[in-house]
Amino acid sequence: MIGDKAEVLTISTTLKTVIDSFALESESARNILPNNFKATRPVELLIIQPTPFCNINCRYCYLPDRTNKERISIETLAVLTERLIAAPEILGEILPVSWHAGEPMTMPVAFYDAAIQAMHNSTYGKVKITHSFQTNGTLLNDNWLELITRHKIRLGVSLDGPEFIHDLNRITRGGKGTHATIMKNIKILNENRIPFNVITVVTHATLCKPDEFYDFFSEYGIKRVALNIEEIELHNNESSLSYQTSKLYYNFLCRIFSRSLKDGSVQFRELNSARSAITFGEDFVSRYGQQTRPFGIVTCDYQGNIFSFSPELAGAKSEAYSDFILGNVYNDDFKSMLNFSITQKIFQEIQSGIDRCESTCEYYSLCRGGTPANKYFEHGTFDVAETIYCNHSRKAVIDAALHELEQHHLVITQ
Ligand code: SF4
Repeated sequence: MIGDKAEVLTISTTLKTVIDSFALESESARNILPNNFKATRPVELLIIQPTPFCNINCRYCYLPDRTNKERISIETLAVLTERLIAAPEILGEILPVSWHAGEPMTMPVAFYDAAIQAMHNSTYGKVKITHSFQTNGTLLNDNWLELITRHKIRLGVSLDGPEFIHDLNRITRGGKGTHATIMKNIKILNENRIPFNVITVVTHATLCKPDEFYDFFSEYGIKRVALNIEEIELHNNESSLSYQTSKLYYNFLCRIFSRSLKDGSVQFRELNSARSAITFGEDFVSRYGQQTRPFGIVTCDYQGNIFSFSPELAGAKSEAYSDFILGNVYNDDFKSMLNFSITQKIFQEIQSGIDRCESTCEYYSLCRGGTPANKYFEHGTFDVAETIYCNHSRKAVIDAALHELEQHHLVITQ
C-alpha cells in the first residue's frame, strides 16, 4: 500500500515515478484564490434542495430536517438562476443541476415542469442547464418516467445491493425494508430503457459480502455503481466503519475491482476515478477541486440560502461558521458572497488542512486533500489531514485500484 513504507517498494518504479511527478503544483496557482473571481470558475454542480423532506427514514441518513415539508418556490429558482447569470465569471457553458437532499420525488411532477421552464427562461440563452435527480427510487411511476424523458433528466438511484444488505438500513418510517419497491421500479426503468446509475452506501455489513454484492448488480444489469461509505456527518454521528475497518474495505474493493476488470459487467466510479488519477495526475485531481474552492459546487436550500464547498455542510449548525450559509439569493450576489469573511474563513482553513495533507500524506498527489465536510464532521475543523473517510475512500481505493490494475496488467510495469 502507498501508506505502508514496506509495500511502497512493491509498486513498480515506473508507476511510482508517474505518481510522484503529479505531486507538484505551483505556489502561484495557490495564491490566485479566492481574490481573483474568475479563478473560481466554473460552477461544476448546482445542487438544489427542492424540499428537506424525505418519505423514507434510512438509519444512516445525515439530513437533520427530513420531516420538514417546506418547498422551494419557483420564484426562488428564478432569482437563483438570475444571480448566477449575473456572475458569468463563475459559469461555464453548461450548468449541471442536481435535485437532491431530501427526496426530489416527494414534490409534484408539475413542479419540475414549471421549475425547469422558469430556470431556462432566466438564463436568457446564456448557459445550458442540464438536470439530474438523486432519488431513493421508491416513488418512481409512469408520470416520473415521462418527465425524465421529456426533460432528458439524468437519474441516480440509491440502492445498497442485495435485499439482505439494503434492508438493514434503507427503511420506511414504519421500519420496513424498501428493497422490493425499488427493484420493482428499477425493472420499470429497464423496460423503458431509461439509463441510471446507482449510489450505494457501504456499511460494515457490506464488507464481508463482496461476491454477493457484485453478483447482485451483475445479475440485474446495473452497470454503473458509485460507492459512498457510511460517513459521520450531520445527523449521522456514528458509523459502522472506523480506522480499524479500512483494511477490510481494501479487501472488499480488491475483490469487486478484480471481478469488474475481469468481466466488465459492473463499472465502479471509484476504480475509474483512481485509474484516471493515476493516468492523468494533476489534470484530473486538482488542489482546487469541486469541494475545495468557492463555488466549485453551489448548494441552494429551499429558502434560497447558498452554501458551497462540500454539499453536506448545508444544514450543519456552527457558531464559528455562521451555519455555513454564505448568503441568500434574495440579498446577495455571488461576487459579494465570494468576498464575505465567512467564505474566506472556510476557504483559508480548507487550504491549511490541505497543506497538512501535502506535508504528511503519501497519497497527496492522487488525492489533493480530501473532502472538507468529512474533516469538519470528524474533527470539528477543516484544518486537519487524515479522516476515517479518507482512510477508506481515498487510501484504500487507491491501494486497491493500484493492486488490481497491476494484477490485470493495466498499468505500465517494469
Ligand atoms: S485527505 Fe487523507 S488521503 Fe487525502 S491527502 Fe489528506 S490525509 Fe491524504
